[in-house]
Amino acid sequence: MQRTYIKDLKNLVGKEAIIKGWVSVRRDQGKMVFMDMRDMTGIVQCVVLPDSPAIEIAKETRTEWVLAISGVINKRPEKNIKAGVQNGDIEIEIKNIEVLNKTDTPPFEISSDTKEINEDTRLKYRYLDLRNERVQKNIRMRHKVIKLIRNNLDKENFVEVETPLLTKSTPEGARDYVVPSRLYKGEFYALPQSPQQYKQLLMTGGIEKYFQIAKCLRDEDSRGDRQPEFTQLDIEMSFAEREDVMEVNEKLLISIVETLYPNKKIQEKPFPRISYKEAMEKYKTDRPDLRKDKENPDLLAFGWVIDFPFFEKVKTSTNKQTQGEWTFTHNPFSRPIPEHMDHLMKKEKLGDIITSQYDVILNGLEIGGGSIRNHQYKALQKVFEILGYEKESIETDFGHMLQAFKLGTPPHGGIAWGLDRLVMLLQDEPNIREVIAFPKTGEGKDLMMNSPSKISEKQLKELGIKIEKKK
Ligand code: ASP
Repeated sequence: MQRTYIKDLKNLVGKEAIIKGWVSVRRDQGKMVFMDMRDMTGIVQCVVLPDSPAIEIAKETRTEWVLAISGVINKRPEKNIKAGVQNGDIEIEIKNIEVLNKTDTPPFEISSDTKEINEDTRLKYRYLDLRNERVQKNIRMRHKVIKLIRNNLDKENFVEVETPLLTKSTPEGARDYVVPSRLYKGEFYALPQSPQQYKQLLMTGGIEKYFQIAKCLRDEDSRGDRQPEFTQLDIEMSFAEREDVMEVNEKLLISIVETLYPNKKIQEKPFPRISYKEAMEKYKTDRPDLRKDKENPDLLAFGWVIDFPFFEKVKTSTNKQTQGEWTFTHNPFSRPIPEHMDHLMKKEKLGDIITSQYDVILNGLEIGGGSIRNHQYKALQKVFEILGYEKESIETDFGHMLQAFKLGTPPHGGIAWGLDRLVMLLQDEPNIREVIAFPKTGEGKDLMMNSPSKISEKQLKELGIKIEKKK
């Protein structure tokens, strides 16, 4: 007999079935044993009667054992029906139990919400935490969001292109993770802080409409709800103006909410727009919470923040890879708004130049941001000059971009969403770790794999690396 998924048992009342899964809850009542069995589709109550051939094994089983169970699906007696609960009106009368794997006593209980458990323990045993109903839902809904994104963008002629993980340092504003090269000792790859340069070069390459569910890696100090690696929905479009990019994204966000989260309400459509200046004056933040009713967890207040200053004076403790007095506020590859292009080319009124940057916000968090890019090499070169780069380092660091811009790069622009953050908000979770399958701690540790960790002397030698011992 074939395995039946627990969600389909309700259609088999009076018949026999085999289910496979984990023992979620077990109650030994002396003569009889009750077990709640769980698979990826849900939970069902099972009972082993005193005369069942399975009674001996049933008494031995413990929670989280992995079992194959066969039995008859019965309607529950009227008084035992649990309304509103999955399979609340049926139970399996077990005839046979095959133990597929025994389990040590789990370090925490999985059947109730693991949110109450110490987080380090949950992260150490993340594979157990993943079995929890709420965490499962988060991971499965994340999949649905990504699938909808892929389907919708495909329909609009976007192509998903993978870009390299072993790449070169990019000036996104954070510190790079670096990977030593064995073949070229003393040289390093950098892991991408975002696919920014590659996606722009895909526009030079005539792809025109690109997207990617992209891993981004930034070596930032642990601050708030951050992860050393996180996922972006990354988009770039050729021959696009600000309105075009905003329209594609707004449509996609609305479709995600209305298709997958019909119980949630979008406060205002089209999304309201607010300038950076107005946001700072009115809300003292550039990602204001626009909700009219903050008590309502199902209210989604999307909005766009636009008209950010392009440059700001360098503050003392900045990671940004700039070398002069000025730094960029968002993205060095952005183009100013058309009216301010002249200031950039003349390198004047730097503090007044407004960039084409647009950020999309949701309930007080920034969930994405992008811009129209400087696609003409002279304009991009001006930005790097303003940022204080010497001619030579512009050439070594960005020569490939400038070169490409001399070889037929179309006007283009794009955006990237913080996908973890969006799913977190949609799933009503308090942090992004809840919606990532294998997150690291706030301090950047993977407690399950135990990383970062030391590597062998042999590996170090092959890489030509010596570790300085602390005195
Ligand atoms: N690469 C940018 C970021 O990661 C987003 C963009 O401008 O497309 O913030």
